[in-house]
Amino acid sequence: MASDFYKLLGVSPSANQEELKRAYRKLARELHPDANPNNPQAEEKFKEVSRAYEVLSDQETRARYDQFGEAGISGGGRGSNGAGGSPFGGGAGFGSIFDAFFGGDSPFGGGGGRQQTGPQRGPDLETRLEIEFAEAVFGCTSSVSVRTAVKCDDCGGSGANSGTEILNCSDCGGSGQIRRTRQSILGQMVTASPCSRCRGTGQNIESPCTACRGEGRVTREQTHKIEIPAGIATGQTMRVSGRGGVGPRGGEAGDLYVHIEVGAHEMYRREEEDLLTEVKVSIAQAALGAEFVLATLDGDEVLIVPAGVQHGNEFVLKGRGVPFLNQGGRSRSKNRGDLRVQISVVVPKKLSARERELLEELAKLRNESVASQESRVKSKIKSAFS
Ligand SMILES: [Zn+2]
Ligand SMILES: [Zn+2]
Repeated sequence: MASDFYKLLGVSPSANQEELKRAYRKLARELHPDANPNNPQAEEKFKEVSRAYEVLSDQETRARYDQFGEAGISGGGRGSNGAGGSPFGGGAGFGSIFDAFFGGDSPFGGGGGRQQTGPQRGPDLETRLEIEFAEAVFGCTSSVSVRTAVKCDDCGGSGANSGTEILNCSDCGGSGQIRRTRQSILGQMVTASPCSRCRGTGQNIESPCTACRGEGRVTREQTHKIEIPAGIATGQTMRVSGRGGVGPRGGEAGDLYVHIEVGAHEMYRREEEDLLTEVKVSIAQAALGAEFVLATLDGDEVLIVPAGVQHGNEFVLKGRGVPFLNQGGRSRSKNRGDLRVQISVVVPKKLSARERELLEELAKLRNESVASQESRVKSKIKSAFS
């Protein structure tokens, strides 16, 4: 699975950026729609190749792709960048990467690039998803429900009652755009704006579909399954491509952005990819050492606290933390963060007579001066009134 994008570009999975760029440039020149007018296969291939390059040319998305395959990138998950930081966001289409690659000028002429015609793309949607702590650590399959525009079944998205005709718009001749030529002091200027009669679709419907009033789409509650990658954290956003609302009259669907919120855990908290927990030990356990069974997220683990442990000491269980989300691929040295156990020595606040006796004996043995019974009472009074 992970080699598909590399295969598409005809490079090996270890190719460096320079090799990728060269391979993409060559393919893009061969396949670009401007060089292959009316060749949908070339256009499709061009889109695939562009997407492959878009993913592999970015270190982070390439690493995720290497680790999770396409599932790792359809999601996004770039954290605080949110939706805006998604490398595929926006609906700019494959033109944008091409422009970026060749510095904005299409090498095939045509002046000003391709015009956007045809049905309008649908809106992007946003939603929130709460998942449990362990689900975020190990990844999970979850689902979200959104009210969204879906294709109208009655008319198949065309917006026309079945058996009726869809005619090319007479105002714009089917192009969806009205071009106006004006003389100005700078010379002749051509402006193009969407046709208002057909709303840029280039078509007019004779008899609008009754179910969708000619929109080609209706609003419905939709549930989408979402694969959550291991290591995701609160504040990160996944992009589920093509799960936004569909556009009018057969327009492509927008994307769905899922903002992730991770619930708290009763024992553990996260610090980046490390898991932190606290283990309380008594003074006797601290002095003598003790054995604990620690419920890690991977299962029970025996933790041996050595004799003489100090308050604040930390024990590290290597590789028992959270998987690294953005560090896949060849170069990673480890897959997961660590589990860090912090020792908290708890001093008893109340002592029985016998306990006091034993501790006083211990103090005497170690030549430690301790407060007498009398001064203890005094200090209690003092603290009560201060
Ligand atoms: Zn309809
Ligand atoms: Zn029109």
